[in-house]
Amino acid sequence: MEIENLNDRFQIQDKRFKSPFIVKSKCPECRVEVVKDMRDDYIGYPLVNKPFDIHFYHECDDDNEHEWNESVILRVRLEAAPSGDES
Ligand SMILES: [Zn+2]
Repeated sequence: MEIENLNDRFQIQDKRFKSPFIVKSKCPECRVEVVKDMRDDYIGYPLVNKPFDIHFYHECDDDNEHEWNESVILRVRLEAAPSGDES
């Protein structure tokens, strides 16, 4: 078998794409770490092989909230499964 990964950009047609990633980012203003668990916090129609933003939100108190973006890239690769790996 031979697999060629073309790395073309494409969009996953999933309105609520949940994925096993945990993304942590510090609020640029308070330096407080905000954690996003992408198993719960879905990405809508994610782009593959093309950078996109994850939006972060930090509510420091009743009057102040901070918002910022982190640029990420989702890679999908097709590989031959190692023999005996059925996990
Ligand atoms: Zn903040």
